[in-house]
Order: sequence, then structure tokens, then C-alpha cells
Amino acid sequence: MEEPATLLADVQRRIAAAAKVARRKPADITLVAISKTHGPERIAPLIAAGQRVFGENRVQEAQAKWPALREQHPDVALHHSLDRASLVAGLARAMDKAARQVPCFVQVNIGAEEQKGGCAIADLPMLLAEARAAAIPLAGLMCVPPLELEPAPYFALLAKLADDHGLTGLSMGMSDDFETAVMLGATHVRVGSALFGARG
Ligand SMILES: *Cc1c(COP(=O)(O)O)cnc(C)c1O
Repeated sequence: MEEPATLLADVQRRIAAAAKVARRKPADITLVAISKTHGPERIAPLIAAGQRVFGENRVQEAQAKWPALREQHPDVALHHSLDRASLVAGLARAMDKAARQVPCFVQVNIGAEEQKGGCAIADLPMLLAEARAAAIPLAGLMCVPPLELEPAPYFALLAKLADDHGLTGLSMGMSDDFETAVMLGATHVRVGSALFGARG
């Protein structure tokens, strides 16, 4: 297993190379390190190597791990997503209570898969309207394309949906396809196993 700093440098280099092909600036692409299932002992070396944006999947896991890490590293940010209207009110209340407005990505079920999280494309206008009405700052759209299919058409569709709704952030691309996502306009790529190794 490579050192975290080596893996991080390699992913950054690949992002920069894909950005160059797309004539984009590497600095316009944020690497989100997806640290789900990994403990603080694996996360801390990445922070030490300069990584500052992380993402988790489960709220409970994030709440157990991150308060201590963020106390030591207040400049670390967590990537947040929202995928249904029933979460809007609670999220708005939590932001009010914390007196912190955290921009959220709205997750879209881009491949219309039954088992996947995310808002149906048809429901997106309503969810965005509700989030905006609740004054939740929107960072953009996020998706996880169907596993066995070519991801590029789904990335292109997410980019179009974001454009249709006046949103600029595009969180798309994971370990296996982040270069494709960068070429199709990703502003955030969410990378887990390429940074941490396979999940147990
Ligand atoms: C796990 C996960 C990732 C990272 O996946 P890798 O293939 O390990 O890079 C990205 N986004 C979401 C929503 C995930 O659940």
C-alpha cells in the first residue's frame, strides 16, 4: 500500500492532466476525499499532506469521526449533499442552529435506478425550489452514474441539468472515472479508493 501523500499526489497529477486536455485550470477542480469506512488514523495523514475537503456517506459515521479531526484542523471542510425534500427543513434548522451556512450539492438519481439515492430528474425543479425557499445555499448538482455503464453521457446530462437551473457546481466522478468527469466539466470529484485503498 502506497503512502497517503503519494496517492494524493498521483490523483492530483491525474486531475491536472485531464484538466489540461479539457483546457481547464486544475485549480477549478476540487478534490473531495471520500473517507467513509476509514478511521482518523487513515484520514490524518491526508490532512497532513494538504488535503482539505472530505466527504462521508453516513451522517452517524461523520458525526462520530469528524468533530475531533476538525478541532485539530478547523480549515477542513466536509462536502454535503441533499437528496429529498423531507430533509430540507431539518437541514435549514441545523444550519440556523450552528449559525453556519454550508453549501449543499443536490444529488440527482441520474440513471433513474430504483436502489440509488438521489432525487428523480422530474422532481429536481421542486426540490431546488424548496431548498431555495428555505435559504439553503446550493453548491450545485451531484450524481453517481449506473455502475456498469459508460459514465460520460450521465456526466453530460448532469452538466445540462445544472445549466438549466443556473447552478455552476458539478460534483461527479469517482476513483474509476474522475478524469472523464473533469473533461465533462466536474468542479468537484469525489475520490475514495484511489486515495485510501480498497474499502474493507
Ligand atoms: C464511496 C463514494 C465515492 C468514492 O468512491 P470510490 O470509487 O472509492 O472513489 C464517491 N461518491 C459517493 C457518493 C460514494 O458513496
